Amino acid sequence: AVSDDIDLSDALTVVMERVRPHIGEGKVADYIPELGRVDPKQFGFAVASVDGEVRSLGDADVRFSMQSMTKVFTLALVNQEGEDHIWGRVNREPSGSAFNSLYQLEFENGIPRNPLINPGAIVVTDELLGDTGDAFAALRALLRAETGNPELDADEVTARSELETGDRNRALAYLMAGFGNMRNPVPEVLDHYFRQCSITITATELARAGLLLARHGVRADGTRMIDRNAARRIMAIMLTCGTYDAAGDFAYRVGLPCKSGVGGGILAIVPGRYSIAAWGPGLDAKGNSVTGALALDTFTQVTSCSVF
Ligand code: GLU
Repeated sequence: AVSDDIDLSDALTVVMERVRPHIGEGKVADYIPELGRVDPKQFGFAVASVDGEVRSLGDADVRFSMQSMTKVFTLALVNQEGEDHIWGRVNREPSGSAFNSLYQLEFENGIPRNPLINPGAIVVTDELLGDTGDAFAALRALLRAETGNPELDADEVTARSELETGDRNRALAYLMAGFGNMRNPVPEVLDHYFRQCSITITATELARAGLLLARHGVRADGTRMIDRNAARRIMAIMLTCGTYDAAGDFAYRVGLPCKSGVGGGILAIVPGRYSIAAWGPGLDAKGNSVTGALALDTFTQVTSCSVF
């Protein structure tokens, strides 16, 4: 049960004590060369509550690459057109294999396992491009509004770095096109997808943006973006599919819907209460931030905030 008298400052102090000795652990993603240049000895953590209070610690105001965490927000954007809109093109089962794996796609007729791994997210971006004419601009506008940072943007150097080394993503997209599961030209979709992934954000901003889900689809300005059920279902997908093939372990350790990215960020939602952002660039073997996971594990243990 969630207690109503959580002292966030105390919880954050415990998180920092627990994480501090581990800062710098893990391996910074270097398959995207630009990400490989990030100093691993950084850690940021921020908690935003649905009433707007934000607490943060460490490097919570340092910008980092959002990467896969953008997948949650593009999924919310396509859900605006109606919830069933996307589900003929992508499933919602955990993949149990790497985020950029090709073989499942081949066996499953070009229908990706879920929208939070690369092929699924590429389909969502393709769909959003069809809906809006500019998928990247739609995502950036949403994130600018929800973070409160009108300057939030892509990092063009990272985007180019991804484009130059993105052969696996090209392979995934062309394989799906071969199965008839792409609507727009692959190079155009990937241009939007790579810029989407390269958006930079701070932990504080990310915690604010995640309130969209914590408030079950209500935006920072009080307007409803997606209906309550759609928000609940996106969070269910985060719980089952949001942390690569470690989602089972995350459910066990953290017990919250989460989405991680190879930039070292993890967004976690306590529905109806908090949005939490953890960032540490060093990743474990499955691609999740070592310190981010430890911070969330600690936070849910000390506060008993979990969906279970
Ligand atoms: N831009 C990255 C890629 O497509 C995202 C991967 C991730 O964060 O999981 O390879």
